[in-house]
Amino acid sequence: MKIIHISAECYPVAKVGGLADVVGALPIYQQKAGIISQVIMPLYNNRFQEENTFQTIYSSQLALGEATINFDIMVLQKNTLGFDIFFVDIPELLYKEYVYSPDDTERFLAFQIAVLDWMLTMKQPPDIVHCHDHHTALVPFMLQESYKYKALHGIPTILTIHNAQYQGWFSYDKLALIPNFDLKNIGLLDWNHIINPLAAGIKCAWRVTTVSPSYLEELKIKANGLESLLRHESAKCIGILNGIDTNVWNPETDTFIRKNYIQRTIVSGKKANKKWLCKEFNIDVEQPLLVFIGRLVEEKGAHLFSEIFDSALRNLHISILLLGSGNKPIEHNLEKLKEEYKGTYNAHIGYDEKLAHLMYAGADFLLMPSLVEPCGLNQLYALRYGTIPVVSNVGGLKDTVVDISNNGFGIVHRQTTVKEVYGAIGRASELYKDQKEFRAIRKSIMQLDHSWDASAKEYITLYHTLIS
Ligand code: ADP
Repeated sequence: MKIIHISAECYPVAKVGGLADVVGALPIYQQKAGIISQVIMPLYNNRFQEENTFQTIYSSQLALGEATINFDIMVLQKNTLGFDIFFVDIPELLYKEYVYSPDDTERFLAFQIAVLDWMLTMKQPPDIVHCHDHHTALVPFMLQESYKYKALHGIPTILTIHNAQYQGWFSYDKLALIPNFDLKNIGLLDWNHIINPLAAGIKCAWRVTTVSPSYLEELKIKANGLESLLRHESAKCIGILNGIDTNVWNPETDTFIRKNYIQRTIVSGKKANKKWLCKEFNIDVEQPLLVFIGRLVEEKGAHLFSEIFDSALRNLHISILLLGSGNKPIEHNLEKLKEEYKGTYNAHIGYDEKLAHLMYAGADFLLMPSLVEPCGLNQLYALRYGTIPVVSNVGGLKDTVVDISNNGFGIVHRQTTVKEVYGAIGRASELYKDQKEFRAIRKSIMQLDHSWDASAKEYITLYHTLIS
């Protein structure tokens, strides 16, 4: 069986968030489970592109409305990723130093058309096309509806929703950009009088998956306008929990961290990493260290951070270190707090893969008070590094973290309010005082198995049901 993942991100090529981690790991585990799993993504003007060499395997032109655009399909010269990866190079549209920008309609439409045009030329097209998020969610529509792709009509499609908040909406003046189809089926593109790629993907894909079972249930109630569609299509939807790449995220071998460790050496290992972090960021090493890593957006609860941190740093014995970027006013407020809480608080505004690893390794607790969390990978990385998660009870967090009071290993609060998150941080600070209990928990969480093995097989079972 050969399947191809179509995605805007893939670690380590280009990463904005969890989508990259999933698309960079799932194919490795699927290959291990015995199928051919490949990835196709845009070629961006980034570090990975600078540090690698590529070979063109196909060149052509595509039609984007009236425009004719040159594109190349490329492969890596020395591929050590563990799966085949193909790149669509469209110099004037995709080849930018960023992955996303505010108006990406033309960029990702051209990408999707290039992928399908290339697929038309294949002697042996994939058995399954697996799309990820709205940037690739028009593929199931085009495969099924566009005259041009008639030869590919029978290929089963899967759409995985990593985040339903973003849907890729565009107006009907851009309809002509989509390769011709029977206009009586235009309703498949529409949701609330606008073209909605994610909605079109949900309608046309043979199966829709979400990245955790709880997120699927939540989407039927709250999905940024798509609730009724998800309820209507629920028979073909399934929640499959994300896993983690246990080779990339392994405290025993992680080359980003100061000192490697295993369960047996967790105390000295975490201590050395914490010491380095605290020195680097001028934080009191004696206090319990709580970290946040992620996008500074409302979905993650970040709009409440300055108020929560202010109360926690004032009243509790705790230190906080934050790594993230996003909403500018939120960034500004978090920067401002630094002055007031020198020695117990610091923030690095930006994106830093290495620092993220060091923080998972050096922290005592990971804070994740998300309002919405489709799966969440941070809490899984934290567990693997023996860092206790302090999380809200939503989506994938609900599926992966059990509160200590229920014989579990984390601290879970019901809602994302200042009061509840503050209360959860208070519980973390109390737990830290009981060093015996604290150490026993963090040692035990390191052995929880969240690798992709089980979930990769679940996807493969799903593929088999579609092929047969
Ligand atoms: P989302 O995809 O919603 O952003 P996830 O929890 O699924 O959230 O995945 C987040 C991934 O991005 C994790 O690998 C996390 O370590 C990483 N990450 C997020 N923000 C940063 C940052 N500022 N610097 C480094 N890594 C980050």
